Amino acid sequence: MAAIKLFPATVAGSLPKPSWLAEPEKLWAGWRMSGAELVQAKQDAALIWLKEQEDAGIDIVSDGEQFRIHFVHGFLEHIDGIDWNKKTKMGIRDNRYEADVPTVTGPVRRTRPIHVDDVRYTRAHTKRKLKFTLPGPMTICDTIADGHYGRRADMAMAFAKVLNEEARELDALGVDVIQFDEPAFNVFMNDVKEWGIAALEAAAEGLSCATAVHICYGYGIEANIKWKETLGSEWRQYEEIFPAINNSRIGQVSLECQGSKVPISLIRLLDKKTILVGAIDVADQSIETPEKVAAILAEAQKYADAERIQACTNCGMAPLPRHVAVGKLQALGAGVELARATHGKN
Ligand code: ZN
Repeated sequence: MAAIKLFPATVAGSLPKPSWLAEPEKLWAGWRMSGAELVQAKQDAALIWLKEQEDAGIDIVSDGEQFRIHFVHGFLEHIDGIDWNKKTKMGIRDNRYEADVPTVTGPVRRTRPIHVDDVRYTRAHTKRKLKFTLPGPMTICDTIADGHYGRRADMAMAFAKVLNEEARELDALGVDVIQFDEPAFNVFMNDVKEWGIAALEAAAEGLSCATAVHICYGYGIEANIKWKETLGSEWRQYEEIFPAINNSRIGQVSLECQGSKVPISLIRLLDKKTILVGAIDVADQSIETPEKVAAILAEAQKYADAERIQACTNCGMAPLPRHVAVGKLQALGAGVELARATHGKN
């Protein structure tokens, strides 16, 4: 029997769109084409990223989120009960950004499968393990206005049901990991414990594939950098929610570690989980060395068994220049090779 590979390498999710598909280095960039031409172009972009990930030695690959403009609204586009013309100005992530968001005006319902064709295509074009990401229910509720449910917890449960219908179909297509992105988890700590985790579990209920949650302090954009300056020298927000996540039915937790002020020792609180250690800093355009990646994996092993550690990026790489993202994928793969080669020898 082949030995189990330590530190499987994976990505948090998004990768840059090629410049012929959408304007680069920009969140929310619009598509450069439409109709059948766009469908083909998205598939072509996903193929490029599958190949780049495979060449870099990434073990659990993703479609790089080439099929959607934004990680939340890309999913919501085909949900009934949302009025896209009724924009509500809302402070999101606890007023960190102000955005004009669509409004929920009736019961939310999935009118058709959303990412099924994307996953079928991606699954058919790689033999590696495949991860697919979906927005988490709490983060959806923080990115849309409620004009119907009255209580955020109720709206989150309604979205969890919709997410679960979609996730079950993706699971049946042979996805190996479904990851829910919950950057709202380090903002509303009490809500996480009261209903956030329950909604997440409802979204993941009955899945046979591995399940993950990505928690996150966000991209290196202006509003985030300012917010991070208010958090002090050590970011200990996770101390409050990790025990609850550890007791949840979600199997994996993805978090930022490279260049982060999150004390890595906090992963001690996740002793029942597989930990996706962020070894690539997405807020910094310099390419990590393999040694730097291996060093953070070594640091993580002080607080978690090697068998429970995967090597990942801190967050999505969508806003980075394409060549930087490729360089970082290669650094991640090379760092994992180094960590495997030196494991147990130091
Ligand atoms: Zn993130």
